[in-house]
Formats: sequence, C-alpha cells, structure tokens
Amino acid sequence: MHKKILFILVLFICQNMFAQTEFDHYPVYAPNDLGLTYTKNASTFRIWSPTADAAEIIFYKRGDDSSVIRKTSLLKDKDGCWSVTIEADLAGQFYVFRVQIEKEWSDEVTDPYAKLVGVNGKRAMVADLKQTNPNGWEQDKSPDFSTENRPTDAIIYELHIRDASMHPQSGIKQKGKFAGLAEWGTTNNEGFTTGLSHIKELGATHVHLLPVFDFSSIDESKPGNAHYNWGYDPLNYNCPEGSYSSNPYDGLTRVREMKEMIQAMHQHGLRVIMDVVYNHTAKTIHSNFNQLVPGYYYRHKKTTQPPELHGRDTFSDASGCGNETASEMPMMRKFIIESVVYWAKEYHIDGFRFDLMGIHDIETMNQLSKALHAIKPDIILYGEGWTAGASPIPDSQRALKTNAYKLDRIAVFSDDIRDGIKGSVFNIKAKGFVSNQPGLEEQVKFGVVASCRHEQVHYPVKAYATTPAHVISYCECHDNNTLWDKLMLACADDSEADRTRMQKLANTILLCSQGIPFLHAGTEFLRSKQGVENSYKSSDDINAIDWSLKTSHKELVEYIRSLIRMRKEHPAFRMFQAEQVEKYIRFEEHAEPGTVIFTIDGKAMGDSWKNIWIAFNGSKLEKKLTIPQGSWHSFLPDNNAKAIVHDNITIAAYSAVILYQP
Ligand code: CA
Repeated sequence: MHKKILFILVLFICQNMFAQTEFDHYPVYAPNDLGLTYTKNASTFRIWSPTADAAEIIFYKRGDDSSVIRKTSLLKDKDGCWSVTIEADLAGQFYVFRVQIEKEWSDEVTDPYAKLVGVNGKRAMVADLKQTNPNGWEQDKSPDFSTENRPTDAIIYELHIRDASMHPQSGIKQKGKFAGLAEWGTTNNEGFTTGLSHIKELGATHVHLLPVFDFSSIDESKPGNAHYNWGYDPLNYNCPEGSYSSNPYDGLTRVREMKEMIQAMHQHGLRVIMDVVYNHTAKTIHSNFNQLVPGYYYRHKKTTQPPELHGRDTFSDASGCGNETASEMPMMRKFIIESVVYWAKEYHIDGFRFDLMGIHDIETMNQLSKALHAIKPDIILYGEGWTAGASPIPDSQRALKTNAYKLDRIAVFSDDIRDGIKGSVFNIKAKGFVSNQPGLEEQVKFGVVASCRHEQVHYPVKAYATTPAHVISYCECHDNNTLWDKLMLACADDSEADRTRMQKLANTILLCSQGIPFLHAGTEFLRSKQGVENSYKSSDDINAIDWSLKTSHKELVEYIRSLIRMRKEHPAFRMFQAEQVEKYIRFEEHAEPGTVIFTIDGKAMGDSWKNIWIAFNGSKLEKKLTIPQGSWHSFLPDNNAKAIVHDNITIAAYSAVILYQP
C-alpha cells in the first residue's frame, strides 16, 4: 500500500517537474540578428526553432494572394536557429517561414521579428528600412517637457488614432490615419483647434496612443469599411498597423507615415507614448510564435496531463484573450526587450504603456527598463498592475500594482484614485467622492499622496509606491465608461450643471495630486460614448471625438488648461521623492465629511507659491471652512470660493478651492 502511494507520488512529481522544465532545456540564442538582415547584395534570414527537423522560407511576389516565387531550405544554425543567406537584392519580395516538427509541417507564418509586412500582416517584406525615414528624420529630437524631464513633470493625454479625426467636426483631412495626427492648425466649424493643435494648446506633454503596432482585427484590404477596433489583439509586434496608413500593401508606407506623425508631434513639442500588448497574442495555436516553437512562448496551466500535450491544449489565460505569454522564458524576454528597444531607436518613441503588465514578470520589466533608460534617460514607462485572470506565476514575481515598489522606474495605474474620485468602475451606479458619496475621503487622500506612505492617510491598501513616479493618477481612460457617462449613469437625478461641476472637481483632484497625471482625450469637454462601457469594437459614432463639444464647453476646456498650466509652473505639484510627499503635504485632520483639505509647503519645493491651501468639496452642500491665518490669493479662474471673510471661506457644492501665498 505504502509502496503504491510512493510510486504515484514519484510519478506525479516527475510529470510536473518535466512539464515545468521541458522548455528549460531549449538552447538560448543570444545575438540580436533574428529575422532579416538586409543589404543590397544579400539577405540573411534567421529563425529560432530548436525542435524543428527542417525549416523553409517561401518567397512571394505580393503580400496577399500571388503565387510563389520560390522555396528555399534553411540550414541548421547554432543554438536552435535555422538560417539562410541569399546573395541577391530581394527588395520588394514577401516571405513566410514554415518548420517541420515530428514529421508535420507547421502553418506558413510571418517572421516574428518582421519590421515590414504586407496587407493584413500575413507576410513579411524585404526592403531597406532607411527608405522609410522622412526628410529630416536624422535631426528629429524628442522635445524637453520640463527643465528636469522627470516623469512626474509629464501630462499624459490618451488618444486613439481613429477617434482623433473621424468626426466631421475634426476638420482633419486624413481621417482615421497616422497622417491625420500630423495635420497642424485644424479646427472645428467654429474655429476652435482640434487634433494635434488642440493637444498642444491644452498643455499636454505626452500623447499616449492606443495600439499602433500591427493588430489583427481590422481587414486592411477593405479601407472603405468603417471597421473600428482599439487594437489589443497583436499580430506583428514590430510593425505599425496597416489600416492607419494610406497604403497597407506596401510595407514601407505605414512605417514612413507613422514616423512622419511622430516627427510632427516632436516638432510641436509633444512626446509620443506607445501602448504595447506583449501579454498575449491574437492567435494561440496558430500564432507565429507557437507554430515555430510549440508551447514555448506561453504559460501553461499546472496539470498532470502527459508532457507531450504541453503547448497544445494547456494554455493558461491571465489575459482573458485565450493565452498569456511567458516573459520569464529567455527567448520571450529577449523578444520583448528587443522589441521596445527597436521602437525607441527606430521610431524615436518616448514611452511605453504596458497592457496587463501584471502578467509580466518583474525581472523582465526591470531589465527592459534598464535597456530603455540607457537609450533615453527620460523615457516614461508604466502599465496596468493587474491581470484579467489567474496566472500560474506567483504574485510576488509579477509586475502587479502591489509590487510597484519593486519596479525600476516603472509606474502603475492607480485604480485607487480613479475609483475614489468617481466610484467603482465595476458598478455603474456607484458614486464617488465628487458625486456626494461619503466615506471616500481617505481614498482620495491616498491618491493625493500618489500611494506613498503618509501618516495622515488611513486607507486599507498598503502604500505601494516608494516614489510619486511609481503612480499614474487618473480617473478615466479608454476602458469603462467615460467620466461624463459614469456621472450620467450614477447621478441621473442630478442636474447637468451639477454633473459638470463634478467633472471639473474630478479633474481638479487629479491635477492637484502627486504622481503622473493622465487624461483621457475629451475629458476636458465632457466626452461621451453614449453609455457604451466597452467600446473596443463599437462604431465611430460611439468612439469618435465630437469636436463640436469644444465649442459648447469652452469654459471647461479653459479651466482644465489653466490647471495644467498651474501644475507645469509649480513644482509643489510635481514632487519626485516619497519623503517630500510625507513632509510637505499636511492634511486638515478635522475636515468635515465630504471634504478633503490639505496644505502644501511650496517653499520647501522651491515654488514661487510659498504656501498652498487646497480644499475639495465633493458633497452636495455648500461648506463654510476655516482657512489658516494670513493673506491668501485665490487661483481658480472661475473662483469657486464665494467669499473670503477673515479666516472663513464658503465653498460651493461639488467644487474646489486653491489658495496660495506668494
Ligand atoms: Ca493589421
């Protein structure tokens, strides 16, 4: 009996050990010349496929349906690679790979390292990448965004390429394209600026673009179809999306047009951040990764199934999209790091936002940060410190929000300040601090101090930041309802005027909080998606930014613009050490429920405002508050303070007061 149990136990352990270490025996290829190395005289192609018995490259005339030019075998190379050099100028030809593993040929797949692809990203293209550089590209420089260029000096503006220009009132000619965001001086019907000019005028420093790498959901061959997608379904990581270019068939055009857009943004003083999605691939079994090296690039569920099934039907799914990549595997880690470095160098990208970053392991993120900071010391990195499902890798090893302090110069989104301000995104009826919900004062204070330790903040979540630069402060992004829709849904009984005040207060809290502020495009003029919570494939009617709103809410735009200017002019709002936050911010201990009141020691931060006194009133009642002694000036343009009488101030419902001593 005992022997039998022991036998089963040993068998179980062996199976699991084998399952966990199966891929660990694969050789690792260190050089960074995977994919295509092109010159006019010769092209070398190299793939990593350590379990293959044979490998082929197939050349085509076109990126879609034309017939084969020829097939060539690849030869076994070192460390699991296969390669071939063809001495001819292959520019203009398209190619795919296939490998034979255990007598079976794989699908024909795109080169995972492809930098140029044809329509719908089905085949990689051979060409000289230098041809994609616009005039003056060698002189293109990322503009300074402050004197120190610290992450907390940034004002990030989150935007989807198509949303920016599709509306008739955008005044932008090249609608839905990279080129549309390179147009300068565009206006709506009443002459208010739109697109790139608007973002510059508002005062943002960084434009964060939703996915612009090649994703799979849009049929690029049908540009007439008004198909829309956010783009969180990666196909070719190192190529731009074709539907945003004027010609998705020619691999060079999309690259050149994306570079032209970045160049235009740089010329107008804006930096560019890319939203990247290395946490999963759109396809699973049939992805190029998985066809070339079955199972290797993904995590798998812990299972007692026989090892030969691994990589076939055991994919774990922390992304909620059918798979999750295994950043801890050396060749996946290498792929991710080389990919971001490529974008930073070739496209002059100034920052990255990592989708579901909580799936990636901390070690990969920190190595990646080190590599990117070596190229661009003021690059900005941040991500979602959560996942969409369970992962087999222990929490302690993944880039989760609670591990932010372990991350090297990488910030996490603070859902604490987001939900404190407006109420939980998971309950559309939930109200927040700005909409008269009591009990959220400490959560807002936790946001004000950018999730750093502060003895006056009593919030159940442990401080996870050890610098304000660890935190992205936001209350709205592309996910979930827009702030305006959320207020409509949760506060249907309140007047539109009151809801507008709530939206103003929400943005005031954000821009007065420490951390890196992040604005969703259109929040400055009450952008609505008509209550559609997950608009990832909704029509342009839902997603496109209605630029006529800029006319109807011009006071609000002006108000948010003035707050952005205040933040940029006053270092008191841009602390860069947790010690500064703890020492120089003091909360009023006996603030009334529904209010958050604090002072900032501006002098200690070298600010021209020696003392700053801020009060947020999220309640529906006007409040009479006591201000500290001394003579105070009011900052806010549409003075929410009704009257300052001696040391008393009356603050309107749903509003903020910012006072300062020069
Ligand atoms: Ca595509």
